[in-house]
Amino acid sequence: MAYVINDTCISCGACEAGCPVGAISQGDDRYVVDAGTCIDCGACASNCPVGAPVQE
Ligand code: SF4
Ligand code: SF4
Repeated sequence: MAYVINDTCISCGACEAGCPVGAISQGDDRYVVDAGTCIDCGACASNCPVGAPVQE
């Protein structure tokens, strides 16, 4: 049950900076979560200004 970043992402980078395990990186049109690294802590959802990270 990793988090995923939906298409409302504005590529601000706040989630990447706050992820404790480095699971988030910048993709072509939004930031992306590596599902195998994400530990479901929820920090990205809390840090995001637009609510783009959601739990699958
Ligand atoms: Fe990183 Fe936590 Fe978001 Fe997973 S839920 S991508 S571990 S901040
Ligand atoms: Fe995108 Fe939200 Fe991450 Fe900013 S914090 S890069 S808007 S998912």
